[in-house]
Amino acid sequence: MKEKPQSYYIKKYFRALPTTFCQGCGNGIILNAFARAVENVGVSQKNILIASGIGCSSWIPSPYFKSDILHTTHGRAIAFATGAKIVNPSLKVVIFTGNGDCAAIGGNHLIHAARRNIEMLVLCINNFVYGMTGGQQAPTTPVRALTTTTPQGNLERPFDLCKLVAAAGATYVARWTTYHVRQLIKAIEIGLQKKGFSFIEIISQCPTYYGRMNNFKDAAEMVMWFKENSSVKGDRKILVGEFVNLP
Ligand code: SF4
Repeated sequence: MKEKPQSYYIKKYFRALPTTFCQGCGNGIILNAFARAVENVGVSQKNILIASGIGCSSWIPSPYFKSDILHTTHGRAIAFATGAKIVNPSLKVVIFTGNGDCAAIGGNHLIHAARRNIEMLVLCINNFVYGMTGGQQAPTTPVRALTTTTPQGNLERPFDLCKLVAAAGATYVARWTTYHVRQLIKAIEIGLQKKGFSFIEIISQCPTYYGRMNNFKDAAEMVMWFKENSSVKGDRKILVGEFVNLP
């Protein structure tokens, strides 16, 4: 099939461009991947409701994606999305959330939505820090990583978010990085069509805070680091792939 030009996606799916994300941020790649997955699945934008919380990644859909969007309070996107789904079960409900928003203040909502297996697709963008508020340590910051609140290196073990939601009972669980764009689009396509709780962790670059503090030259170097340090076999630092795919 012939690849559609970027102008096609801009006209059909984006409400406002350019974005206000920092240069090289992974959020633009994720917005683009989401639009392509929606196009490939053929789900109507009129039927999509996106909920997002607080943080840089919560600005991916709001205001940029052309659909109904609830930009909610910190950590509460899944709770708002649950309410919307109960009121109108025909909605295709998607959540854009960050590692801080989803795994810290919103952690309780995350595990219970997975436990209840409520039909929704959660896209959790993990850039290892709290980006919007200044690069503080987050629940997914790697051990020894430098952040603005761990200048001597992080001492706390990070959450493995995919293991967490898989153990809680999710129907679909996958992890990819902003290097794995084709795999990410495919995973979003699957998640959009599942009848249970779907969770995709997207490892993404925050060159402004995480990158600068951890000696990455620029965003491109971070994406190459994702490429070189991830594997579906589990023999590198980042395990990527599809971990749960139940009918
Ligand atoms: S602070 Fe980081 S996550 Fe936020 S827009 Fe800038 S690069 Fe992206």
